Amino acid sequence: MARYTGAVCRLCRREGQKLFLKGDRCYSGKCSFDRRAYAPGQHGQSRKKSSEYGLQLRMKQKARRYYGVQENQFHHYFEIAEAKAGVTGENLLRLLESRLDNVVYRCGWASSRAEARQLVVHNHFTVNGKKVNIPSYLIKAGDVVAIGEKSRSSEKIKAVVEAGASRPKTAWLDVNANTLEAKVLNLPTRDQIDAPIEEHLIVEFYSK
Ligand code: SF4
Repeated sequence: MARYTGAVCRLCRREGQKLFLKGDRCYSGKCSFDRRAYAPGQHGQSRKKSSEYGLQLRMKQKARRYYGVQENQFHHYFEIAEAKAGVTGENLLRLLESRLDNVVYRCGWASSRAEARQLVVHNHFTVNGKKVNIPSYLIKAGDVVAIGEKSRSSEKIKAVVEAGASRPKTAWLDVNANTLEAKVLNLPTRDQIDAPIEEHLIVEFYSK
């Protein structure tokens, strides 16, 4: 399935929440959701009570959009999460957080997950000293993610790193601003994931 290329601000308005999909714009007065906090379209302002199924579907869509993952891949993550020991919903979120594009974003090395994905594809990062250009690459505890040697002198990379330095730190990543390396201390526990997702609704959605 093709990647969504439409207006991403509509996605936040559809989900009734800021999903921070556009980097710096999300924190500025230009945020569409701040100006029009209702669903897009002709009937966007009319209030409709959602069914249980509707709530579950919306939560699944919200999670997909938050992490920028397509339907097939998301379902695949769910199947992996279900097969693992532990709580399925938490396993699912942990898998999504483990994606290299998410880790780059959490390190403050990109202004959004979409930008992180693009930077990863363009070969700007290494994992344990080896170049990795696959956004869905799953990192493990103990891995070291770094900005590649050549990329450190790139003006674009310098600008995103500088802009990201003020973002809140992620407890499970030890980011060294001098060496531009990040050690994965552990894969995150649920309380270390600040995603606006009620994962039990996603589990219920796929369990029907
Ligand atoms: Fe969402 Fe960011 Fe657009 Fe605001 S600016 S609606 S947070 S993507």
